[in-house]
Parts: sequence; C-alpha cells; structure tokens
Amino acid sequence: MRHVYTPVIGLEIHVQLATESKLFCPCSTDYIGAEPNTNVCPVCLGLPGALPTLNARAVELAVRAAMGLSCEIHDGTIFHRKHYFYADLPKAYQVSQYDRPLADRGELYISGDGGSPKRIGITRLHLEEDAGKLVHSAADGRLEGARESYADFNRGGVPLAEIVSDPDIGSPREAREYVSALRRLVRYLGVSDGDMDRGSMRVDANVSVVKSNADTGEILYRGDRAEIKNMNSLRSVERALEYEIRRQRATLESGGTLERETRHWNDGEGVTTSMRSKEAALDYRCLPDPDLGPIEVSREMLDAIRSSLPEMPWEREARFIGDYSLSEVDAAVLVETPALADYYERCVRSGASPLRASNWVRTEVLRVLNERGVGIEECPVRPEELGLLVSMLDEGRASTTVAKEIFGLMVDRGLSLQEATDRCGAHGGLSQEDLELAAKSVLDANPDVLAEIMGGRDLKGKKRKFICGLVMKETRGRATPGAVEDVIARFLEGME
Ligand code: ADP
Ligand code: MG
Ligand code: ZN
Repeated sequence: MRHVYTPVIGLEIHVQLATESKLFCPCSTDYIGAEPNTNVCPVCLGLPGALPTLNARAVELAVRAAMGLSCEIHDGTIFHRKHYFYADLPKAYQVSQYDRPLADRGELYISGDGGSPKRIGITRLHLEEDAGKLVHSAADGRLEGARESYADFNRGGVPLAEIVSDPDIGSPREAREYVSALRRLVRYLGVSDGDMDRGSMRVDANVSVVKSNADTGEILYRGDRAEIKNMNSLRSVERALEYEIRRQRATLESGGTLERETRHWNDGEGVTTSMRSKEAALDYRCLPDPDLGPIEVSREMLDAIRSSLPEMPWEREARFIGDYSLSEVDAAVLVETPALADYYERCVRSGASPLRASNWVRTEVLRVLNERGVGIEECPVRPEELGLLVSMLDEGRASTTVAKEIFGLMVDRGLSLQEATDRCGAHGGLSQEDLELAAKSVLDANPDVLAEIMGGRDLKGKKRKFICGLVMKETRGRATPGAVEDVIARFLEGME
C-alpha cells in the first residue's frame, strides 16, 4: 500500500499593539530603546496592592484587528490570570483571556498552494499582557557560558493580541503566506508595526501530519501535533515547518509514534529539538482576575471603529489590478505596505503611466531602499518627481538610459528632478548633430540592409527597427526612440 503524509498546521501569533502605554498602567511601551527597568511602576512590577486600569486604546486596536479578520466581537468578555512561575513574570501570573476571548470565528484569505485564494479560519483573538525579558550573560558580558541573568521589566505589561488560526494551513509555504498576510493587515490597520525581527510579531506553529492510503484516501493515522517556538522571520517559519514535517514523516515511516510536545527551532542548525512533552505541560490554573472588570465594547464604539477602517490591503490590491491593469504579482508587491502603495499612487497621480510607474517603483525604487536599508518613507526621490520623470519616458522625452542617469543623480546627489535633468540634459547631452552622425554611420556600415529597405523588401518594418536599434546603441542609449525614428525617416526620405 502506498501512503501519503499530509501536513496540518495552525498558527498562534502574538502581535504587539501599537499603544504608547502598557495594557494596565501608564508606563511607556518602549522596551527596545530604554534603559532596563526604567519604564516600570508598581502595577507592572506586580507590587502588592497595585491595581490595574485597562488601556482603552489597546482594546480599540484589538477590535480593529478583529474587524480586519471579520471576527465576531463580544461585549463583556473577561480577563483571567494564567499562573506560572518564571523570573520575568513578577506577579507569577499573566493576565490573559481564557474561555471567552474578545473576538472569535474570523477569517483571512491567503494565496493557497493551488494558486487560488484560500480561506484560513481564525479561531480567536484575545488581549493579554507581555512578560519581561531575561538577559543571560557571563561576567564579561559574553552570552556563552552565561552565569548571570538580569531581569528587565520594561516589556512586562506591554499589550499583545494573540491571534489563533484554525488548523487550515496545508504547507510551510502557506504558513509563510498567512504570516505575511496577517502582518500586512495589522500594518494597514495601524494595529502594530508587525516587525518580526523586533519581536512585534511572534509566531508559534502547531504542526502534525496525517497518514493516509494514497489510493483510497482513507486516513490511517493522525499524528499528535508539535508546537514549535522561536522563529524570528518569515523564512524561519517556513524552514522550521519544512524540517518538522520531514521529521514527523520519517518517524512515522520508520514505525515510530508522535506525541504532543513543544519543540524549539534552532535557526543556526536548522533543526527543532524537544523542549517539553505533554506530560510536562504546564497547568496554568486560570482564574478570573478579580481586579479587572469585563471589557466593554459598546455599539457606538464598534460603529466608530468600523467607520475609521482604511481600505483593506486585498481591496487595494484588487483596485490596483482593475484600475491600473497591473498583474497580480506586481500589485501584491506594491500593496505590501500602505506607505509603498501610497508612494506608487502619488507617482501615478502626478502623470506617470501606471505600468511604467509600477516597473520603476518595483525595480529602481525598491533597489535603492534595499541598498540603503531604509523604508519608502525615507526614499530620496519624492513620488511626484518620479511620476514626472516616468512621464518623460512615457512621452518619449527621455530615453531609459538617460532617465536612469537622472534618477541616479536624484538619489546619489539629492538633486531635484529639474536640477538632475539640467545636469544630464533630457537627451543626455546628445545634440541633433550627434544623433545625425550616429544615424549616418549606422546606415553607411549597413549598405545591404539599407538596400533592402529602399527596395521595398522590408514589409513588416523589421529592418527599419533593426537600424533604429543600432543607432540607439551608437548613442549609448541616450537618444529617445522617437528621435531616432525621426532622423532615420528623414535620411530615408532624402535617399528616395
Ligand atoms: P492549546 O489550547 O493547547 O494551545 P488549541 O486548540 O488552542 O490548543 O490549538 C492551538 C493551535 O493548534 C491552533 O492554532 C490550532 O489551529 C492548532 N491545531 C489544532 N489541532 C491541530 C492539529 N491536529 N495539527 C496541527 N495544528 C493543530
Ligand atoms: Mg496555545
Ligand atoms: Zn507600569
């Protein structure tokens, strides 16, 4: 009997909400830049008698995310205390939501492996607080062989939305698509910066494999799932899942069994290792938090948030495809962040043809940003100026080579479009005489082709195009196609 092994994946993602202050106290949420233990107070340090006050902005952001995921949002859900002991958790419990989450039963569409959109169910979305951070270090500051641990509570109490997916994800690639779709959504909604490398979005992946009969499809065995932790990039989510699926499959193939466990992804070695088994699973003793009342989400609040929602990324993508005739792939690149999509649209609005503007933004602009390691907000060329430059190309007033030179001057020297164009000349310093000389030398060097054209044997105009191409080359790409065609036409007329 032949067998097939089908992966089943569900993701639990913690998204740090973009609030100024923590979930239950006025302390700043800045835990990356600040000195350790400076953004703390009796509430987030869990000192006896300190009472939490719920941050309304955090609730609002969580509701926004829930709306973007088409969840059902519930009024009056409560907070629980999830108990465990660890040095980064001063209260010895984390405030989270347990059996009644703020929102549930949502969905997010991703590009599925079959090539069409695939619905991924959202099980739940709830609010919770983050823990502090431990820094392990040896006496001389090295991490290796650390003998000392320092606790920094700046992160303790920072608001998180935990978003749990249904086990609808069918491959590591789909998992990556899901994470990137969710990241794009929270960025559009202004809910979070979504930066995985800064820990604003943390992914835990649950994965199991189902073994079935390849011919009948009959399910023979459902493996227990492993939960994988410690993946810090889209790439590592995909790699960790690929590794783990291979491992589970190999275990089943060799007659072994799989147990529920938590595994740690080691990015350097590219393997997952067991952290704890089901037996060692923690019993959190969740209890309702008596210090916090139910979360109120009134009709008015929901209406106000709903009417403030921006155009969703998938709506913008569809509009780009429809209005600007972009391919799906190109539109997806341009709508990746709202700022990039804005940049592109401003470029088009200042007169550039949508297709050429798309090419320039996706290649030239993104290349510059990549090289400099900056976001589109810091692009040295304003979108309106790029739009005007692209229209020079659209209207045949500059060749591609010259336009790229102008763009290069704007990027490297910080020149305006006008200054850069003056510097290059729209024709790249190519005079009419230069162009005529170039045309003449090409025609002189190709008497056979010229004879064929003159003899009326160039029915499809291919030979003429060939000649124009040579002239273009002769000017080192500085002439515009229109100018080359004109000069060749005049020469040919003169010869008749
Ligand atoms: P827990 O409460 O133990 O974390 P949940 O039922 O909340 O368990 O599920 C956690 C995650 O595990 C969810 O993302 C869910 O989609 C995923 N999951 C559930 N069953 C499976 C399975 N058989 N294989 C892979 N993932 C699964
Ligand atoms: Mg869980
Ligand atoms: Zn505090």
